[in-house]
Amino acid sequence: MDPVTPAALLRASPLPPLEARILLTHVLGWRATQLITRSDEPLARAALERYKTLEARREAGEPVAQLVGAREFFGLDFEVTPDVLIPRPETELLVETALAAMENISRPRLLDLGTGTGAIAVAIASTRPDAQVWALDRSAEALAVATRNAARLLDAERPGDAVVLKQSDWYSSLDTELRFDVIVSNPPYIASGDPHLSEGDLRFEPRGALTDEADGLGAIRVIVAGAPTRLSANGVLWLEHGYDQAEAVRGLLTAQGFADVRSERDLAGIERISGGKLPG
Ligand code: GLN
Repeated sequence: MDPVTPAALLRASPLPPLEARILLTHVLGWRATQLITRSDEPLARAALERYKTLEARREAGEPVAQLVGAREFFGLDFEVTPDVLIPRPETELLVETALAAMENISRPRLLDLGTGTGAIAVAIASTRPDAQVWALDRSAEALAVATRNAARLLDAERPGDAVVLKQSDWYSSLDTELRFDVIVSNPPYIASGDPHLSEGDLRFEPRGALTDEADGLGAIRVIVAGAPTRLSANGVLWLEHGYDQAEAVRGLLTAQGFADVRSERDLAGIERISGGKLPG
């Protein structure tokens, strides 16, 4: 039998080409460009077998990010495990909006609720080395992943505790004295009966990161209700939510006394995040 080359393997793969390339570069430890420059090199049998195993697992539905243990977010390479939500590109809007809110504040204090991988908190800390960032999650397993991501992605540029990571069910274990300039969260916002929970990558992600087991607004209500006592005067709260929840979230913010309440659209044109300011 002829030796199998990357070119032949990718041609024959049942996966979408991008996914096949990601899995193969992962197995080989190559850069994407090496799949082109070395496309006709015979592959070692062990590498071929590892690739075939991942390909079969992908065909059975496992997310690519979990198979390779990583996903890029805001230009940073985050470790991903089945214990955390996989960072999504639309969540970069939340990071950009939080960064804009902190623009004119020196040493801003930021709180990220339900940090998961730590993607939001680490992206912000990495962009604003002077920020003091707290990141909470109720899951010890998620917190372990976030801790490794913060250590690996931030330590080189920021000695010491760049991000304070703490196990907490929303605000419950947070020091009551602390006040923040910005609170952000990408909470579980999918309603418990939503069929998307049994489709695609979501089947393999932690259910507690996806749904409140209620109408999808349960976690958002808790976060909005607790924010005023945790925000500084003129502090802002920004939340990611589902494609059809913007109006409801704006309503919750307004009822809680927030001013300048508005939503921002993601690249797909969907109102993806909503926020407001606590009047001073
Ligand atoms: N954005 C995810 C999805 O709809 C849900 C994440 C969440 O509930 N925070 O696939």
